[in-house]
Amino acid sequence: MSDVPLVAHSLAEVYLYLMVTPCGKCGRGPLKGGDAKPAEWDNTRVGVVVEVTCSICDDQARLEFDVPAERLAAIKSAPRGSAAKINPTPEPSRIIDVAGWVTLFGVIADAAARATDKGEARMLGYEAAQCLDEALKFYDQENELPPEDAFFSEASRRRHREHPQKLARSRLIDLRARLPSIDAMEKRMASAGGKKRRWWKPWG
Ligand SMILES: [Zn+2]
Repeated sequence: MSDVPLVAHSLAEVYLYLMVTPCGKCGRGPLKGGDAKPAEWDNTRVGVVVEVTCSICDDQARLEFDVPAERLAAIKSAPRGSAAKINPTPEPSRIIDVAGWVTLFGVIADAAARATDKGEARMLGYEAAQCLDEALKFYDQENELPPEDAFFSEASRRRHREHPQKLARSRLIDLRARLPSIDAMEKRMASAGGKKRRWWKPWG
């Protein structure tokens, strides 16, 4: 994937990508990302550059992500610490595959369950719900399992073949049904006021 630009729908998606992407050198990770710096390429592409360090082998890399200009502007105008939309479009992610989103959902929902602060739990819950919504964007209505092109790596495809029930569409829909709608969560967060911490780095 290194010869094509990494295309993200938001800065939130960039940081979630780092959480599920193995290190290019040792194949493990996770990658720790520094601050995203705005960048522009060829006068046509805008986005961010993130310096990443592997938490296992310390290998460093510089990752470039195309991010739509209006999504970058939305971050600047949002109140500090407010929860971010991962992908406001109906288009599935091009950098995190269906299995990646389900993994992220599990990790973030666990963090939400452990959070002692109500505001933090709400924000993590909002993020977890969006991860499930992102996973569901890959499915056809009539198929219980995701299509082949919903997997971006051979490792991911192999894990799915070993445990197909994990990615059953009905299972994801059941999990999603236990959480409130995105609108309801946004309203609740707005009425509770913003948080001080940048939401996408709860583990950093
Ligand atoms: Zn490494």
